[in-house]
Amino acid sequence: MNTNQDPNMNDQKKRRSMLIYIIVALVAYLLVSQALFPQIRNASVTKVDYSTFLTDIEQDKVKEVELNTGSGTIRYTLKDAEESHYNETTQFPNDTDLVSLLREHNVDFSAKIPDASGDLWLYMLLSYVLPLVIFIGGGWLLNRRLRKQMGDDNSMNFGSGGFFGGGMGGLGKSNAKMVKGEDTGVTFHDVAGQDEAKDSLVEIVSFLKNPDKYTAIGARCPRGALLVGPPGTGKTLLARAVAGEAGVPFFQISGSEFVEMFVGRGAAKVRDLFKQASEKAPCIVFIDEIDAVGKRRDTSINSNDEREQTLNQLLSEMDGFDNQKGIVVLAATNRPESLDQALLRPGRFDRRIPVELPDLAGREAILKIHADDVKMEPGIDLSVIAKSTPGASGADLANIINEAALRAVRNGRNRVSQEDLIESVDVVIAGEKKKSTVLSEHEKEVVSYHETGHAIVAAMQKGSAPVTKITIVPRTSGALGFTMQVDEDEHFLTTRQEAKDKIAVLCGGRAAEELIFGEMTTGASNDIERATALARAMVTQYGMSEKFGMVALGQQRNRYLGGGSELTCSEGTAQEIDAEVQRLVEEGHQTALKTLQENRFKLHEIAHYLQRKETITGQEFMNILTRDDGFAPKMAAAKTE
Ligand code: ADP
Ligand code: MG
Ligand code: ZN
Repeated sequence: MNTNQDPNMNDQKKRRSMLIYIIVALVAYLLVSQALFPQIRNASVTKVDYSTFLTDIEQDKVKEVELNTGSGTIRYTLKDAEESHYNETTQFPNDTDLVSLLREHNVDFSAKIPDASGDLWLYMLLSYVLPLVIFIGGGWLLNRRLRKQMGDDNSMNFGSGGFFGGGMGGLGKSNAKMVKGEDTGVTFHDVAGQDEAKDSLVEIVSFLKNPDKYTAIGARCPRGALLVGPPGTGKTLLARAVAGEAGVPFFQISGSEFVEMFVGRGAAKVRDLFKQASEKAPCIVFIDEIDAVGKRRDTSINSNDEREQTLNQLLSEMDGFDNQKGIVVLAATNRPESLDQALLRPGRFDRRIPVELPDLAGREAILKIHADDVKMEPGIDLSVIAKSTPGASGADLANIINEAALRAVRNGRNRVSQEDLIESVDVVIAGEKKKSTVLSEHEKEVVSYHETGHAIVAAMQKGSAPVTKITIVPRTSGALGFTMQVDEDEHFLTTRQEAKDKIAVLCGGRAAEELIFGEMTTGASNDIERATALARAMVTQYGMSEKFGMVALGQQRNRYLGGGSELTCSEGTAQEIDAEVQRLVEEGHQTALKTLQENRFKLHEIAHYLQRKETITGQEFMNILTRDDGFAPKMAAAKTE
C-alpha cells in the first residue's frame, strides 16, 4: 500500500473539490433564481403584431396588460392562455386611444416605469448579492464536509480568517478507534506460531498489567515495539492480542489516516491521539502500517512538508509522553527499510519484533486454530495441508480453511472434508478452476506434455521435492495447469545444487514441448520468469556463480514484499551478470532436455494418461514412472525411498 502523500495527488484532489464546488454553486444559483424569477422558469412569449393585439382586446380575449413605458413593449396575457404564457408586441407610437379601448373592454392594465422602482433593488440584490451569498455559503458547506471527512481538528490552515473561514473550530479528533482491551476478543491463544514474537510481547503485557513492579526497581518499559514482517503474518492480530491480554484500552489507527491534504492536520491528529492516550493510560497505541507516515524524510527540495510535520510530531510525542504512566506504542509495517532512522532509535521503537512467515509446525498450528471455527469431518489430517503450503502466510491459511468451508456448503454438505481442504489449497495457490477456458484437444495435449515435463525432471533430480499432484485444469490465475511438489520436511537452506535443480525443473515444461512438438508456446512464460529470477539471485545475492564468487552485486529492496534486488555494480559487470544468468538458465534447460530425452517413453505415457484424467496424484505419476517395463529410469527408484 502506498498511501503517502504525493503533491500531485493533492493538487488533483483540490482541483476536483473546487470543480465540484463550482458545479454545486451553479446549480444552487439556477434553482434559486428559478424560484425568484418565474419568468425565467417557464415563461413562454409569443410576439404578435400590434393589430393582433387590438383585435384580441376587441374580442374580449385579453385579461391583463402591462405597458413598459421605457422600451415601449406591451405584454399581455390572454384569458384562455396558460398561466405563464404571454404575448408581446410593440406599442404603436402615439396611440392615444389605447387606454380608452382597454377601459371599454374592462381589461386590467398597468404601466412599468424603468429605473425608478423597488424592482430594481430586488433585481440588483438578486443578480449581484445572491450569487455571492451562494458562493460563500457553498464554499462554507463544502469546507465543512471536507472537514467531516477528514476528521476535524483545530489546526490553523483552513480555519478562521480565511475566505471561507469563521466559526468552525473543529474538535481536533484523530479518528483512532479506541476499544477496551478485553473487547478486542483476541488473546495470545488466537495467535499460532510466532512464539518469539509472543515472548517479546509478554514483557510488555506484564508491564502494562502492573507498571509499579517495574518502576519500583527503576526499569523503563520499552516505549514502542515495531512488528515487522510480510503481509498476513499476524502483526495486527498480535497487537490486538497484547491489548486483550493486558486488558488495557487499545487505540488503533492506521498510518494512512494521518496522511492529510493540508499541512498541519496530520500533526494535529497525532497530537490528539497522544492526548487521548495519556488520559486513558495505561494503554496501548497501535499504529498499523506505519510506513505511511514514518517514511524516511528525504533531503530533496520538494520534500513533503505535511508528511514531515506529521512524522516530527510523532517523534516528539514519543519522546514526550510520560513513560511512567504506561503508554506503549506498537506499530506494524512490512517495509521496515523505508522507515525514518529517527523512529528506530532507542526511546522510540526500541524493540523490533520480527513476525515471519510460519514454518511447518506454525502452519499446522494456524490451520488448527482456524479449523476449530468450522465443522470438520472426523479424521481430517491438517499436517498434509501444512506440508503442501510452504511460504503461505497466516492469512493465506485462514483463507484456505474458509475456502474449504465455502466449498463444502456449495456441495451441499455440512462438514468440511479433507477433499475440500486439498482443493482449496489449489484455489489459494492457483485460483479457482476456470470453466470458461475450454482447451482444444491439441492444446490439452501440449499442456499435458508441459506439466509432465516438469514432473519428470523434478522426479529425476536428486535435490527437488517429490511431485504430489499434476493437473491440467485451467485456473482463474491464468495457469493452464500446474505441477505441485511438496517437500517431506521443511528445510531452511537451499544448496547450490538444489537451486540448479529447481531451474532445470522450471525449464522442464518448455523442454518437453520442444522435444515432442518441435515448437514453443507462450505457456512457459511464468516458468521462464521464475527460472531467471532464481538464476539472477544465485549470481547477485547468494554468491553461487563460478564467475563472481562471493560478491554481493545487488541490494535487496522490500524484503517482505517480494521486491527484487537493485544492482550495485558497474555497467560492465551488469552485462556480465546478464551473461552469467543466461548461462545458468541455459544449463538448466539442457539438463531438462537431456532428462526428458532419456525418458521420452515415460513422458509419452504419463502425458497421455494425464490428458485423459486431467488431474493425477503424485502416487499415480510415480507408479507409471517406476513401473518396470524396461523404460523405468534408474534414479527414480532412489527417489522413492
Ligand atoms: P498482518 O497485519 O501481518 O498483515 P493480520 O494480523 O491482519 O496480518 O492477519 C490477517 C489474518 O490472518 C488474521 O486475522 C488471522 O485470521 C490470520 N492469521 C495471520 N497470522 C496468524 C497466526 N499466527 N495465527 C492465527 N491466525 C493468523
Ligand atoms: Mg496488518
Ligand atoms: Zn510450466
